Amino acid sequence: MPEGWQKISEALLRCNSCGFCMAGCPIYKVTGIEWAVARGRLALIRSVLDGELRLSELAEPLFNCLACNGCLDHCPPGVLTDEIILEARAELVKERGQSWIQRLIFHRLLPNPSRLKKATRLLSWLQASGLRTAARGLGLTRLMGDAGRAERILPPTPLGRALTGVPAPRPERPSYRVAYFVGCAGANLTPQVAQAAVRVLNRHGVEVVVPDFVCCGMPPYTYGDVESALGLARKNVELARSLQVDAIITTCASCGSLLKRYPDLLAEDPERSAQANALANKVRDISEFLVDIGLVPEMGALRHRVTYHDPCHLGRFQKVTGQPRQILQSIPGVEFVEMAESNMCCGAAGSYSLGHYDLSMKVLARKLENVARTGADLLVTCCPACSLQLAHGVREHGLKVRPTELVELLDRAYRAA
Ligand code: SF4
Ligand code: SF4
Repeated sequence: MPEGWQKISEALLRCNSCGFCMAGCPIYKVTGIEWAVARGRLALIRSVLDGELRLSELAEPLFNCLACNGCLDHCPPGVLTDEIILEARAELVKERGQSWIQRLIFHRLLPNPSRLKKATRLLSWLQASGLRTAARGLGLTRLMGDAGRAERILPPTPLGRALTGVPAPRPERPSYRVAYFVGCAGANLTPQVAQAAVRVLNRHGVEVVVPDFVCCGMPPYTYGDVESALGLARKNVELARSLQVDAIITTCASCGSLLKRYPDLLAEDPERSAQANALANKVRDISEFLVDIGLVPEMGALRHRVTYHDPCHLGRFQKVTGQPRQILQSIPGVEFVEMAESNMCCGAAGSYSLGHYDLSMKVLARKLENVARTGADLLVTCCPACSLQLAHGVREHGLKVRPTELVELLDRAYRAA
């Protein structure tokens, strides 16, 4: 049996078919379909091992999973469904290959940040020139299926206006020196968050350097292209070797989550496994880092009722749940209110909507119902994919709540001091 299938087979043995995972699966909650819950998906994968189904017949059950691990919260033996799903996706990719668009993004754009930036600028130009609006008006985006409909999730303003790079001034007597892993989405889609992060870190006497890291590898990893993910991880590990820093800071839950898993990814690479450990040990979400060093208390008051959405890759995968709440509650004037199911996926799951727009929107609608019940006027999170998804939902549903990133709110509080 090939190694990938060996791992899947061993992991599957832990599932006892109890069905408790139904309680935590966003896709099951919005569809009620048995094969959409971990128990069903795992049973189908087992059928492939037993020779009853072909793997190619499982593309939909494998790819309509959010890989959020909401099931794990309710699973007595702790089955890592996301890992089994991703392993099976990798086997499927080996069998049937990739689409041209995946090859373009994973092999040509993500390993090369300047190419990625040019592609984003092209997108910005399409927005600014009015072609995006015209294409929508003519119904062309709908012809592109889910991916065409998902383009609405991108910010409505031309991206180019915000593409001003990340300034990294140096405090006079820095107490810490950190490397900022901005991430592809942070650098290209939400640079205002990156700029706020640098200001907040500087306010804490932290010197920030912004090295030329490439993509963390999460997009190819989740689409089953493990080789591309490993290639990106090796480049980042190599770059991190030369950095003299106290920490590697992220403001993207997905980047942080995968960077912390580099030791697993590179475990069988004898040249790099020690370096991968060294890198992973330094990775901190910005909320973790700020709470560790102690928040500067001088902030201006911001009068808001605030609720918080836990990104899966921050709360469940990195176990960072208390720090964002602690920071919110430290801002004078903020009234924090917990929402129901705060740790349930918002349906973003990276780029899930590109292939499953309707399902993604159903999961998002459930999240927004929980947000609306809090009466909050600010919806805070710590992940660019969640931020864009939530902002899209707020626009589509005409809600009054305003989505923002934690670090942007903190930056406002310091600027108001
Ligand atoms: S809760 Fe865990 S053990 Fe039970 S059916 Fe779901 S995945 Fe299997
Ligand atoms: S990983 Fe998420 S979407 Fe997939 S089965 Fe588990 S809870 Fe459901």
